[in-house]
Amino acid sequence: MRQTQPATTSGVEPPQVESSSNPGGRCFWLTGLSASGKSSISNELSAQLRAAGAPVFQLDGDVLRRGLCADLGFSPEDRAENNRRAAEVAALLVRAGALVVAAFISPTHASRQAVREIVGAARFVEVYVHCPLHVCEARDPKGLYARSRAGLLPGMTGIDAPFEAPEMPDVVVDTSAPDATPESCARAIRHWLAANT
Ligand code: ADP
Repeated sequence: MRQTQPATTSGVEPPQVESSSNPGGRCFWLTGLSASGKSSISNELSAQLRAAGAPVFQLDGDVLRRGLCADLGFSPEDRAENNRRAAEVAALLVRAGALVVAAFISPTHASRQAVREIVGAARFVEVYVHCPLHVCEARDPKGLYARSRAGLLPGMTGIDAPFEAPEMPDVVVDTSAPDATPESCARAIRHWLAANT
């Protein structure tokens, strides 16, 4: 069985920075379809939290895939490994007291459960960035849906690979709502944090 906490017998202790002025790290894990709004909300939430003086660290699936996970593709095994590495990085940062804002499609219950176990359930905040597929497809900022529909991108989440909607997310933001903006969605997440600190 995998260890979710670092061994204390190794001589390497995780940094402990919790205090009354820093209630400890959290990992906001933004899950949702491509183009649902994860990165836009992550940017906005990070800016709002930083402006309030919090130590914030952003993790983005696309960015990690250009570096730490550049060797990985989109097979189920590689997606799981991509997820695991992201979660391990998030766990280190959370233990150091940071607020981690992570934007990953993480399409399956199993992938999100794996992150919850690695980060620690008490520190993991599942944020479902909800947006219907047809709205995501109309946005298509990276042209991925068009490429998928043209048969040029196999395994596109929502088209020919599954997205399992979270069943009990801590926070849901609906980016297709007429009055929703990245700012308002980020505010909703900060309200959750304020109510749960
Ligand atoms: P993802 O990271 O999920 O792939 P992006 O944030 O890159 O999604 O793109 C989402 C697109 O949807 C952006 O062009 C963004 O401006 C737009 N959008 C419209 N309404 C919202 C909203 N309420 N929250 C976030 N993004 C929104």
